[in-house]
Amino acid sequence: MNTRDLSAHTAYRAGRGVEEVAREVGLDRSELLELGSNENPHGPSPAAIDAIQAAAANVHAYPKAVHADLTAAIADRWELSPAQVWPGPGADGALDYLARAVLAEGERVLVPEPGFAYYEMSARYHGGGVDRYGLDREQEFAQSPDRVRAAHDGHRIVYVTSPHSPTGSEMSLSEIADLAASLPETLVIADEAYGEFTDRPSARSLLDDHDNIAVVRTFSKVYGLAGLRVGYAMVPESWADAYDRINTPFAVNRLACRAGLAALEDEEHLERTVSSARWGREYIREHLNARTWPSGGNFVLAAVGDATAVAEAAQRVGVIVRDCTSFGLPDCIRISTGTREGTLTAVERLNEVV
Ligand SMILES: *Cc1c(COP(=O)(O)O)cnc(C)c1O
Repeated sequence: MNTRDLSAHTAYRAGRGVEEVAREVGLDRSELLELGSNENPHGPSPAAIDAIQAAAANVHAYPKAVHADLTAAIADRWELSPAQVWPGPGADGALDYLARAVLAEGERVLVPEPGFAYYEMSARYHGGGVDRYGLDREQEFAQSPDRVRAAHDGHRIVYVTSPHSPTGSEMSLSEIADLAASLPETLVIADEAYGEFTDRPSARSLLDDHDNIAVVRTFSKVYGLAGLRVGYAMVPESWADAYDRINTPFAVNRLACRAGLAALEDEEHLERTVSSARWGREYIREHLNARTWPSGGNFVLAAVGDATAVAEAAQRVGVIVRDCTSFGLPDCIRISTGTREGTLTAVERLNEVV
């Protein structure tokens, strides 16, 4: 037999890993700066490492209590009821749960272009069709409500990303509220994977007055736990009993639950990560010899001509950046911020090749 027809599904292509690139360009792993995937250059919180080690001996048991503890800790932090917090294997997993809860076969979703590839993939897995709303570089890639509404035609889900990857643009709370209020039968998913890096408040506050907004967050970026796969959605109060009907049991594994709980308490690690990212994005904008855009995230988009050629040349001088061709921006690269020292070195090396 064969799989069902998957020809409309695009395959996910991750940014390239450091081991792979080191081998290919013949550099030592330690000489390479991995700035292609918006990972945390400071590594995970040390408290999370301890928690993982301590939990290792118990991985024979399902994560019953600890899964509830993580949900409760997140709920507490955001002043929500635990039923409004839907943990998943990465924010990607949480996006799947939202699609699973909302989409009926054949309904359509609206995704930003350029934008995060997984929105589309997730919607398709769940039987949805996909349309796009375009972001205009001459308008700094703004995700304005009017732009979304111009493309909207009965879509069940609209995805917005703030801060947006790969561009760094942001959407204000009033814009998200305006969009949701004008589309009462559409779920507006506000993806805040980079929410900790901006000064703007979370769309969490909008959940109190709207029953068609969900907010997505992750432990992969600021908390440095990308390798564990843990994220969550925050949903309207009226959805309270849906999670138990749609989640894959024990969505977040035991080690990830423990690490997440520890990371939530480690304010020093969070502070260090956020401050080096905020400093780094300004430094890149000031010193890289390329057109760049303002960023609310831990990365900067830069126009460099032939992005594929520049990304390859960058690798040869020891810097991995994201070629944005797959995002529909063949002249742009996305550079994650590093540690302060890493960012300084990266800009110096990149200026040799842009
Ligand atoms: C990294 C990222 C995510 C989620 O990543 P997970 O590792 O699955 O938590 C979601 N949205 C955007 C825009 C991202 O860049």
